Amino acid sequence: MQMLSTRGAAAVSPSMAILRGLAPDGGLYVPAEFPSFTAEEIRSLAKMDYQERAAFVLGRFLPDFTAEELKDAIAGAYGTGFDCQAVAPMAKVGTRAHALELWHGPTLAFKDMALQLLPYLLTLSGKKHGETREVFILVATSGDTGKAALEGFLDVPGTRCCVFYPDGGVSQAQRLQMVTTGGSNTHVIAVKGNFDDAQSGVKKIFSDPDFAKEMDAQGRVLSSANSINFGRLVPQIVYYFSAYADLLAEGAIEMGDRVNFCVPTGNFGDILAADYAGKAGLPLGRLICASNENNVLTDFINTGVYDISGRDFYKTISPSMDILISSNLERLLFDLCGQDGAKVAALMAQLKTDRRYQVDAQMLEKLQARYAAGYVNEDGIREEIRRTWEEDHYLMDTHTAVASAVLRRYQQETGDETPCVIVSTASPYKFGASVLEAIAGEEAVAGKDDFACCQMLSKLTGTREPDQIAKLPAMPIRHTAVCEKDAMAEAVLDAVK
Ligand SMILES: *Cc1c(COP(=O)(O)O)cnc(C)c1O
Repeated sequence: MQMLSTRGAAAVSPSMAILRGLAPDGGLYVPAEFPSFTAEEIRSLAKMDYQERAAFVLGRFLPDFTAEELKDAIAGAYGTGFDCQAVAPMAKVGTRAHALELWHGPTLAFKDMALQLLPYLLTLSGKKHGETREVFILVATSGDTGKAALEGFLDVPGTRCCVFYPDGGVSQAQRLQMVTTGGSNTHVIAVKGNFDDAQSGVKKIFSDPDFAKEMDAQGRVLSSANSINFGRLVPQIVYYFSAYADLLAEGAIEMGDRVNFCVPTGNFGDILAADYAGKAGLPLGRLICASNENNVLTDFINTGVYDISGRDFYKTISPSMDILISSNLERLLFDLCGQDGAKVAALMAQLKTDRRYQVDAQMLEKLQARYAAGYVNEDGIREEIRRTWEEDHYLMDTHTAVASAVLRRYQQETGDETPCVIVSTASPYKFGASVLEAIAGEEAVAGKDDFACCQMLSKLTGTREPDQIAKLPAMPIRHTAVCEKDAMAEAVLDAVK
């Protein structure tokens, strides 16, 4: 299987695509053609555990990795760091849906599903292509990705991970999760600025040839762990197969029955992985793209126009979905236009200059045949958390609630009775204050910090507060570096001295 760039550059192997991250023409790497799983093969997954399912699926998508390499990587990624054997268990949301829980990993959010495996894929890819330098991962984070990257790369030989977060711009729990990180190859630096400052600072470092030279002299090479890397997308394909296999094992569906997935969406990586599973033979119905008030994707899927001009950016209680430019959408466009790199490049250029583009009628028809979309506002999110807890006794976080609310409306409006899976992307305790407020009202959270809110949430609902949160206040702080926004490169060099 070869990988193409969405903007037309020459094909490369999957391991090269993972090592490079971005294609040299600025495009994203996508499979040139998809592996094909037979009904018999999908049925056989029902008897496997998660690690075996991962080996089976990844083996087809990553043919230049040996079965032995993948098996070891998977064992390392999805072993003791997860709090349950199932890794990505399914729960019932009353009788109306299943929830695919992707937050049983070390940082309690779905980013772990990919970032626990990516370091292995990256170091293996380096070896295959004669890279002997230490792979140096730079990350700018608005909260969740930073901790997931730190945990993933923690003490992985041949790698080093440095995370920048906006000083004062992340939640109390998110900051403590990062600055208490152990390991001998992790660095965490607060930037005096907002997330955009941190992000543009990292981009500047990536494009600075002098910095690259200095890194090279130190025996290091820069790389990226954000979701443009195919190595972050491919582990996510596995859990859609796994969800289907669980439904088969449970007798909720028969082999060949279609299943809808409703996915809380930001950068479009999670839902695109479902699409890729479908292209590889998984029987999918509709993919329902759920957004918060930053609803640019809802409009795009309903009209074919992607327009960010004059659009306000809202800070919501589902912050990991607060995004206006969904980078992985470029991969979908490439597919919708029949792998026409020139066409995708033109649309992306248009987005840059006009802040909008429109796909043609043929692309729109294909898009709407596979996808549906909806969004929900802040009150709607809180109402959904409260109602689902009261009616179905299922506790969900603010991101998952977006999907749950959008699915509820979709089912009412369309009458579509296809079995549906809500993709559950974070532990309710990761956003404990918002969840508590939804269930117990504003008075309940007044004057409480994140940790007091989580304790009260546990008491009120009888659900268990994860150790990762409960133990945070008592953990020693290991990272105290702070830098000005125009001194990030110096801060990195300082940190690795
Ligand atoms: C990152 C994230 C999302 C959005 O996923 P995308 O792949 O960016 O669409 C949703 N929920 C949570 C909790 C996340 O951390």
